[in-house]
Amino acid sequence: MEQFKLFINNEWVDAQAGESFETDDPYTGKPWAQVPRGRAADVNRAVAAAKAAFEDGPWSRMSASDRGRLIYKLGERIERDAQRLAEVESRDNGKLMSEVLGQVKYCAKYFYYYGGLADKIQGHVVPMDKPGVFNTVRYEPIGVVASITPWNSSLLLTAWKLGPALCAGNTIVCKPSEFTPASLLVLAEMAREVGFPPGVINVLTGYGAEVGEPLIRHPDVGRVAFTGGDAAGRRVYTTAAEGLKRVSLELGGKSPNIVFDDADLDRAANGVITGIFSAGGQTCMAGSRLLLQESIHDEFLARIEKITRSAKIGDPRKADTQIGPVATRPQYEKVLQYIDIAKQEGARCVTGGRALSGPEYGAGQFVEPTIFADVRNDMRIAQEEVFGPVLAVLKFKDEADAIRIGNDIRFGLAAGVWTRSLHRAMLMSEKLRAGTVWVNNYRSTSYMTPFGGFKDSGLGREGGFESVKEYMEVKSVWMSS
Ligand code: NAD
Repeated sequence: MEQFKLFINNEWVDAQAGESFETDDPYTGKPWAQVPRGRAADVNRAVAAAKAAFEDGPWSRMSASDRGRLIYKLGERIERDAQRLAEVESRDNGKLMSEVLGQVKYCAKYFYYYGGLADKIQGHVVPMDKPGVFNTVRYEPIGVVASITPWNSSLLLTAWKLGPALCAGNTIVCKPSEFTPASLLVLAEMAREVGFPPGVINVLTGYGAEVGEPLIRHPDVGRVAFTGGDAAGRRVYTTAAEGLKRVSLELGGKSPNIVFDDADLDRAANGVITGIFSAGGQTCMAGSRLLLQESIHDEFLARIEKITRSAKIGDPRKADTQIGPVATRPQYEKVLQYIDIAKQEGARCVTGGRALSGPEYGAGQFVEPTIFADVRNDMRIAQEEVFGPVLAVLKFKDEADAIRIGNDIRFGLAAGVWTRSLHRAMLMSEKLRAGTVWVNNYRSTSYMTPFGGFKDSGLGREGGFESVKEYMEVKSVWMSS
């Protein structure tokens, strides 16, 4: 079994209470790594190190260009050892090696992008209406940032925070999910190797209530960057509000993928399948509500049923596997529960709908990719985030109907539209209440562009130049001659 420690002030240390816990490989069902179980005392140590690095350490004296170069070097280091990082993350969350490897390589690009931006953050001078008076607007780092992330894409979702936070000159304490703690510890070692000074990047492993909460409450943490479910997100927001912390929340989704009758149906079918079944549906941006125009409903359903039935399900380490296990036991049980709920609600199971067991399914934490048709928008299967390989299919008549159904939900993370009509594409991208709208593609994301949610899907945006400002204070300096 691999053993890990906490990473504080560039040192590997045990949790102060001496406790640890094991994380399971979702495919074999067996524990593969042992990590420390951090608590408030460890939070205090990590935040003290991050504060000292921010206020007094070499990091605080480093030029923006040098800081940028270091962030860039971390990207190169990640790319060089992408295989190791991907193996560790795949062991922890059961994601396909092919998917994680792509994600890790993509992570590196976040560091290239934000490394390049570090010396391009400029303030401005405001022309005042009094002679001899100048006002200068400066952007300054906030201080110590807390990053709290879920189990589905530990490295990538942390890179979304690390890149802009470090670019702005902050220091950071990262708390990965208790289900997937290992890959960030490997990343921390890489940061040390490329020369990040002590205290700039710290990683604490442990549970939400035992590490996450005290981290958010800590008076020296100025900014909280959270990705996770909306239940935990609400708690995080409340806790952070008590300390008046700056907060970003990237929460759940139940995104509509809308196919019109004039779409390229082959492309749309592939987009719909990738939209829901990538990472076994365990992504916030999953296109889990498929809205089909009435005239193509039956034909399109038959197409996606055929593709779904042919999916290769099994060992995430095998190159030809398309769908791996569900990442955690509680999540596996939750997905099966939603399948039962959908059946009780009267949705028609077109394909899937069962747990899978047998030698090719390891410890058996597998759910068949599932499609439910005849779904009404007031059913729970249409309104609640399943976070698994389950697609709910609804019918619509025209644009107005698609907009009404698409928006009739408390989430607003993303939406997909498939059409050849420019008019429809423009209308839908304007009217859909979601932080991202994809037209004739799905799941595209980039470090160059903002990502985040409307409504209950969150607050703030990650990605792009603007997200650097979300990690900065604005200072107005008045000078008289
Ligand atoms: P989760 O909310 O249970 O946990 C996320 C993280 O928060 C974990 O590290 C956990 O330990 C920590 N945490 C839990 N309670 C806490 C508390 N009270 N205080 C501080 N920290 C706390 O989510 P999960 O089950 O790990 O991940 C799945 C969820 O994440 C889904 O809802 C999914 O949609 C969402 N997600 C959103 C995005 C996005 O960008 N919008 C991306 C990926 C996942």
